[in-house]
Amino acid sequence: MWVASGRKVRMETITSDVVVVGLGGFGSAALWRLAERGVDVTGIDRFDVGHNLGSSHGVTRLFRVACMEHPGLAAVARKSLELWTGLGERYGETYVEQIGCLSVGRPGSRPVQGTTTAADAAGIGVAHLTHDELVERYPQFAGYADDAVGVLDPEGGLCFPERNVRAQVRAAAEAGARVYPGTRVASVELVDGGVRVVTPTVVFEAAQAVVAAGAWNPKLLPGLPLRPRRTPLYWFAPRADATQSFDLSAFPSFIYELGDGRSLWGHGSGDGFHIKIGLGDHGSDYTDPDELDRYIHPRIDVDRLADAVGTAFPQVDPVPVKAIPCMITDSPDEQFLVGRPDGDPRLVVAGGDSGHGFKHAAGVGELLTQIAVGEQTYGDIGFLDPTRFAV
Ligand SMILES: Cc1cc2nc3c(=O)[nH]c(=O)nc-3n(C[C@H](O)[C@H](O)[C@H](O)COP(=O)(O)OP(=O)(O)OC[C@H]3O[C@@H](n4cnc5c(N)ncnc54)[C@H](O)[C@@H]3O)c2cc1C
Repeated sequence: MWVASGRKVRMETITSDVVVVGLGGFGSAALWRLAERGVDVTGIDRFDVGHNLGSSHGVTRLFRVACMEHPGLAAVARKSLELWTGLGERYGETYVEQIGCLSVGRPGSRPVQGTTTAADAAGIGVAHLTHDELVERYPQFAGYADDAVGVLDPEGGLCFPERNVRAQVRAAAEAGARVYPGTRVASVELVDGGVRVVTPTVVFEAAQAVVAAGAWNPKLLPGLPLRPRRTPLYWFAPRADATQSFDLSAFPSFIYELGDGRSLWGHGSGDGFHIKIGLGDHGSDYTDPDELDRYIHPRIDVDRLADAVGTAFPQVDPVPVKAIPCMITDSPDEQFLVGRPDGDPRLVVAGGDSGHGFKHAAGVGELLTQIAVGEQTYGDIGFLDPTRFAV
């Protein structure tokens, strides 16, 4: 490499069997699972571990096992639950809090029908609430359709992005993984017999790369059909007389279709966090992740949500107490990409989270590991195969 002075500088080269690019939700899980298998693995992230500049920050994420997005995701969520429960016992922390997840809407709506279909397929013991039961049990909700019903997934609840990512990286390092935070990958090059992962200071050589760069995936692997979207996170406070009603114990995580068709998701307040509410259709502010608008615009961002919050939860102040930007990366069919693009044996990718990926992170990390080491995957994941898209 030539530097400005004209002197030739020798780049350090680090060799391992597998290099993982991106240590967010998916990548840190892959690093952990590979290291636990005894694989010689190196993990790289452009930022610090557990940072708030990508997609895995904001304290909490909804956890669901009966996933309306695809029945096949139940196996992945359950694998996350199994792995995170084991990790929680090791480190004395909670990585999934199973307070339940309530889906509300008309009988044929996506939250109700999709959740029911997924529960039936995976044998999940959801509770079906009639309209009257819903009204009686959850008086916090308003604005739903006259025939709205509820489906409660008892295995659902919350998971914790920064905490879980840090634990996954800690477990990976303890199992022998090398970790390079603050190291930006400039390119992932496919070469004879493997990959070269180039950073400004070090070249990482390996037989395979697992690329899990979230919103930056299309920059490193330009053929992938992925589009990052600016999607802020919002926290709210209850009105003065309703504080108790919005505690997590009374107000679980939820997906909620209003009578007018808008959908909301969120959960109650807990230890160290306020009520979180987001809009299902966050709009389509497609963005370059390096140019993400990190400013919260009261007239655009807040107004977009406040009306729906006011309709759905009259006991909540519709002006958020806090908001921070985040990114979702959409795939064309809203399913993730987990596997080998073009079947290339040097590359495994995880991305296209489409706004519902964190709960599956540990399960996806295990799948990435199985693919990399050539094991049979624990579930049928054809619907996540990147080759389903003609690239
Ligand atoms: C508003 C919002 C609400 C959500 N709600 C939920 C929910 O309730 N439940 C749920 O399960 N999911 C939810 N999600 C989705 C979930 O957060 C994502 O699916 C998940 O965080 C994606 O993880 P990731 O590993 O793909 O990306 P990230 O966690 O962003 O990881 C990518 C990593 O790659 C690194 N990287 C990028 N480029 C480079 C480079 N060139 N060199 C080195 N490192 C690089 C980044 O720094 C980053 O750490 C939500 C997302 C948003 C935005």
